Amino acid sequence: MASAVTLWPLNFVIKEGIIRMKIIMLGAPGAGKGTQAQMIAEQYHIPHISTGDIFRANIKNGTELGKKAKAFMDKGQLVPDELTVQLLLDRVAQDDCKDGYVLDGFPRTIPQADVLDQELTKLGDKVDYAINVDVPDENIIHRMSGRRACLKCGATYHIEHIPPKKEGICDKCGSELVQREDDKPETVKNRLSVYHEQTQPLIEYYTRKNILKTVDGTRDMKDVFSDIITILGR
Ligand SMILES: [Zn+2]
Repeated sequence: MASAVTLWPLNFVIKEGIIRMKIIMLGAPGAGKGTQAQMIAEQYHIPHISTGDIFRANIKNGTELGKKAKAFMDKGQLVPDELTVQLLLDRVAQDDCKDGYVLDGFPRTIPQADVLDQELTKLGDKVDYAINVDVPDENIIHRMSGRRACLKCGATYHIEHIPPKKEGICDKCGSELVQREDDKPETVKNRLSVYHEQTQPLIEYYTRKNILKTVDGTRDMKDVFSDIITILGR
């Protein structure tokens, strides 16, 4: 029976060696966390999960949770945190999440983070990393205010980074380019103030849980991503 004794720890080590990455993305709107989440998902072959996608999929498939969520949305109400977390747990229980996942846009508030934490704990699970893509407000306002869009064909430009060949005119269809309402400095500032009030406290929250990792999001997205790889490993 001696072999069984030596085999058990070996087996254990192999099990522990399976890297599961459950990641939460944090960062102000416009900081580029969605892009980084997408790149992480591709690099580590784990799903990129947003609550918007989960709502849409459940409503489309007519699931019980989807019907409940839709009832709130139809009344113009926010979907309660408990229900959102139930939808999320249902999603991360699916087979493609067995090696981990990257959550984008959830949690947004401390109560949401608490519900998520409690429910994962019940399952003997936890979040491994909260990655904060840090970009000062001034940079975000500057970035966003340079965006231009063609309302006719949907092409997007940036007056500094992706300028059209002719100023104010779409390369693809020749229509006039506009600054979308979402990209106007006043709109961006409003969204940032909501972020500072509701979501930024999560940085302190995950710092206390010892899983917060902050990257400097002001640089080129490839450089930001290479910092993230250094943090996550491999
Ligand atoms: Zn166009």
